Amino acid sequence: MKNKCKYIFVTGGVLSGVGKGITAASMGAILKAKGFKVTMQKCDPYLNVDAGLLNPVEHGECFVTRDGVETDLDLGHYERFLDFETNKYSITLSGGIYKELIEKERSGGFHGKTVQLVPHFTDLVQEKIAMASKDSDIHIVEIGGTVGDYEGLAFLEAIRLFANKVGRRNCLYISVVYVPWLNTSKELKTKPAQNALKDLRGFGIIPDIVCVRSEKPCSRKICEKIAAFSGIPGEAVLNLPDIDSVYDVPLNVLKSGVLEILNDFVGNDKKPDMRKWEKFSEWCHEQHDKTVKVGLVAKYVGNEDTYICVTEALKAAAAHHKVNLDIVWINAEEATEEDFKNVDGLVVPGGFGLRGVEGKIKAATFALENDKPYLGLCLGLQAACIAAARRAGLKGAGSEEFLNDEDFKKPKDFQNVIYIMEGQKGKESTGGTMRLGDYPAVLKKGTKTAEIYREEAEDCGAYTSGIEVQKTGNVKVIERHRHRYEVNQKYLKDIEKGGLIVAGTSPDKSLVEFVEAPDKTFFIATQAHPEFKSRPLSVHPLFYHFIKILKDQK
Ligand code: GLN
Repeated sequence: MKNKCKYIFVTGGVLSGVGKGITAASMGAILKAKGFKVTMQKCDPYLNVDAGLLNPVEHGECFVTRDGVETDLDLGHYERFLDFETNKYSITLSGGIYKELIEKERSGGFHGKTVQLVPHFTDLVQEKIAMASKDSDIHIVEIGGTVGDYEGLAFLEAIRLFANKVGRRNCLYISVVYVPWLNTSKELKTKPAQNALKDLRGFGIIPDIVCVRSEKPCSRKICEKIAAFSGIPGEAVLNLPDIDSVYDVPLNVLKSGVLEILNDFVGNDKKPDMRKWEKFSEWCHEQHDKTVKVGLVAKYVGNEDTYICVTEALKAAAAHHKVNLDIVWINAEEATEEDFKNVDGLVVPGGFGLRGVEGKIKAATFALENDKPYLGLCLGLQAACIAAARRAGLKGAGSEEFLNDEDFKKPKDFQNVIYIMEGQKGKESTGGTMRLGDYPAVLKKGTKTAEIYREEAEDCGAYTSGIEVQKTGNVKVIERHRHRYEVNQKYLKDIEKGGLIVAGTSPDKSLVEFVEAPDKTFFIATQAHPEFKSRPLSVHPLFYHFIKILKDQK
């Protein structure tokens, strides 16, 4: 195996959900700030083939890669922390590995051999790691779950074996463990962490770094104790206590003393340039004079993980504009005009199914009638078009998606303002069949949407990903998608009469990608998910301008 790349493997012990992904991504951010090309990958032991059909309440947002794979929200963290684009190799689920192995077996690809977890599963995982790390200097692999989970064992074996292939000195193993605070005796308890590290050792992995996550800071004594019991040097045990903002984690990881170990591993002691992170973290902590209230009209109220890219994009935009952000969760199923009045602007995020859609349509109607700034994302565009068509007199305007729900009382004059694309029919409950990933759109010269993107492309240059000003003055953009339904262009006249114009389409004009209300302060909706491409250090233009408008209106 070609071996110019170095590998970092991150596993977790004691509990899941203690920030293994953020810790891994923070290490990545530090290494990137040292000048390396860093990529990341998540290996998850689920039997699902991808994350597309997973329940967003249980599992959080489904993140989409540019090449159209539906993944876990951790990939969103990776993109935000490392400002790179993940792809289909950045996620490896057990289900996908089994599927590939079984397909190969069925087609005779194993030539009569017995197919086994070791070596076949473990070899294929290693192949995936090698593919995901192509062209990078450092590749970080996070193993989902906690050490000792049955389903994760083959992944641990794969990453252990990987060191045999590329050389142990080219691999760095990090274990993120949790040290709980016991309130009755008022002390931090190290036993679960010791046991987790013992388990890991049992699988043949002695970590080079142990990150101790805790609610309160751990003393050096506690770290030394963990070190002593797990046979690793004291200075390799780093404490990462809870902090307010995830964007402080890269700086906190750096402060923990990790740099020396990372420098040793990569063979250079260049100081990482963390200035942008420092500035951003400062902004996040500052109390500003102005506060903007954004109403997030959502089905899963208060569940930040379900809309994490949206809330992170809003937070980052607020930090850049130096305003405090107050996200007001508006339950789409019970939303009233009062709720909309109470906020400075409305965001209608993506969603599926009938539940809550009427509230989203109400929000769009209110925004159109009261010039309330509105940012519509995917379903947020569909709701806006239905609202506009109804305003124009098509009272039965709706989406064909509603017809799949038996609770939908189909009106006699139902009009499919949002309809299903020919190629999508009959696939409503199957995985990986939506219009997924990057697709270009052409924004019409002179529209507000085009101006906002164009300004960004010409202005600070912070966010230029895929923006191209064409000779005609139109602006070509590339955004990620995850949807099955489309605007039915048969009703464009009605949508226009209701106050919206088409600001952008697919290059062949067959699909509506952006709509806007030309006479409103800010009413823009897109069929795409721009939140997937927003970064803390380079905010997506639509979010950036949305918050700017709210700030200016104060
Ligand atoms: N349910 C709509 C569709 O499939 C919108 C999807 C979304 O908001 N991601 O087209």
